[in-house]
Amino acid sequence: MKFRVIIIDDLSFMRTAIREILEDAGIMVAGEAENGLAGFELYNELQPEVVLMDITMPVMDGIESLKKIREKYPDARVVMCSALGQQEYIIKSIQLGARDFIVKPFRPERIISAVQKAVS
Ligand SMILES: [Mg+2]
Repeated sequence: MKFRVIIIDDLSFMRTAIREILEDAGIMVAGEAENGLAGFELYNELQPEVVLMDITMPVMDGIESLKKIREKYPDARVVMCSALGQQEYIIKSIQLGARDFIVKPFRPERIISAVQKAVS
């Protein structure tokens, strides 16, 4: 199955790292955004099959962005990626419909399997 992923994270090096992991696995990255609001707008524009969403971001955080995306697109597949120590957001994310929750620093295989599982 051909599918597209977008990456929403305020750190450009993190977006680049995730993009490289996905592209090395043959997964297409359709776009990137640097905060939750820009990510929501990018989702509207591209309606990708999977979103990789950071939590702590300026302007709008990943929890709020997840909420907005899932309100408008109930079938949206969103995988949360959070820094160590933010596990309190796991339950909140799952309640809001996130497919998975990855804790940084992550192994490349973890990202790839979460994305593949989300679309399968
Ligand atoms: Mg962040």
